[in-house]
Amino acid sequence: MPLAEAGWATEEVTPKGAWYKVAFWYTGSLSPMLLIPCPWCGPRDEIEFRYGGEAHIARPTDPDALDDAAWADYLYMRANPKGILAERWVHQYGCRRWFNLLRDTVSHRIVRSYRIGARSGQIE
Ligand SMILES: [Zn+2]
Repeated sequence: MPLAEAGWATEEVTPKGAWYKVAFWYTGSLSPMLLIPCPWCGPRDEIEFRYGGEAHIARPTDPDALDDAAWADYLYMRANPKGILAERWVHQYGCRRWFNLLRDTVSHRIVRSYRIGARSGQIE
């Protein structure tokens, strides 16, 4: 889809049961490539980015206190939902900054992107 035809729209979504209205970026369902909205640079083609796994995984405050099972859980266990997932991405061939992205894992629809440290419900 040409960039001029893409655009922001709003929709109510329920990630983890919390209702709030968010903006999402329409790229069209037949787009051969994700059009990822970098919070600093705007929408760019997927090939400029690198995936960094699930977002909001907090490092344990006292790793030495964890047993092997709890440490393995922190390292390897991820939500892997069928639906909206908060992910980390880096604009590797652009501004080289990390950010978070809410993406539907079924349709690949991008709900929104936001800077690291920003609340996921905020529209920037
Ligand atoms: Zn960027």
